[in-house]
Amino acid sequence: MEKRIWLSPPHMGGTEMTYIQQAFDANWIAPVGTNVNAFEKQIEEFIGCGRVAALSSGTAALHLALVLLGIEKGDIVICQSLTFAASANPIVYQGGTPVFVDSEPVTWNVCPDALESAIKHYIDKGKKPKAIIIVHLYGMPARMAEISTLCVHYDIPMVEDAAEALGSEYNGRKVGSFGLMSIFSFNGNKIITTSGGGALWSADSKLIEKARFLASQARDPKPHYEHLVTGYNYSLSNVCAGIGRGQMEILKHRINQRRANNAFYQKALKRLPGINFQDELAECFSNRWLTALTLDFQQSGIAPRTLITELERNNIESRHLWKPMHLQPVFKDAPYFGGNIAAELFLSGICLPSGSSLTAEDLLRVANIITKVFT
Ligand SMILES: *Cc1c(COP(=O)(O)O)cnc(C)c1O
Repeated sequence: MEKRIWLSPPHMGGTEMTYIQQAFDANWIAPVGTNVNAFEKQIEEFIGCGRVAALSSGTAALHLALVLLGIEKGDIVICQSLTFAASANPIVYQGGTPVFVDSEPVTWNVCPDALESAIKHYIDKGKKPKAIIIVHLYGMPARMAEISTLCVHYDIPMVEDAAEALGSEYNGRKVGSFGLMSIFSFNGNKIITTSGGGALWSADSKLIEKARFLASQARDPKPHYEHLVTGYNYSLSNVCAGIGRGQMEILKHRINQRRANNAFYQKALKRLPGINFQDELAECFSNRWLTALTLDFQQSGIAPRTLITELERNNIESRHLWKPMHLQPVFKDAPYFGGNIAAELFLSGICLPSGSSLTAEDLLRVANIITKVFT
């Protein structure tokens, strides 16, 4: 059996152990320390504005964003349907009502028209949505011009779920800097990793200070432990932040490598009938975290399942697109706005191996197997 090709494995840069060793030498094996501070600073500099709190996961970051927005029982929070469940679960943690919205066919991210329908529907019912969660799926920036205009017009805070999109840009500006707050993930499969971790970003430093306070058990400044509000244990380990420091140093290379994977696949597979890649708008720059494409069954006669099975038979991991939240049993009662775009993307889409450590040989192996399925 040829060696396993994973969908998106961790890819260390080489300096991570130095920073981990520093944490050990200083005995800061704790959720605070110099690695945490330095890692936060690196992310801030990379985004180019705003402040950052390093946290234990992207999910924790999104949960804190909703806590800071005061989301409570019964509040409406709008979220893109075609996403990973972690985009929506924190709404439920707060007792809020998730309202899901369809995608548009180019970026696969939220459809601005369906989004506006959802907003208007709830305003007419006297239940104005309290927040809108925007996702940049597989690294692809959403239609930020239209979406930002809607959020400003209806005066609803935007939270960007940029878990998959660190380094992606819209009109030359980093995604994750458009919302009132945004989140990033450093889970093992993301473009860079701390094994597990996340970050909350905001241009408002007060929000980030509050997030740090809530993430470390909301201890009030008293000689004893005094708590006025409910806290969380959501800080990032100083050991894990050491991995993050090393990873931030080579993030630019990781983006270039993932984009090169995508360019390779587009070139190698474009002649096959019925293949369509997730598209970059002219104003967008995607980090291409995962290369994703759809198979038009009428033209190709091939279902994603067939391709995934054949790749797996050759020890290659690939994956269906995220199953839309409005089709998930756990969210069966959640309202949904839009048509069938997200559902059709799910039925026809596939994510190819996209790791930054893929060799030219690996990429060719994947492309050859796909081509064989088509012939
Ligand atoms: C990975 C991911 C998250 C969650 O991040 P974790 O660090 O794994 O908690 C949230 N949203 C999206 C879109 C993701 O891909």
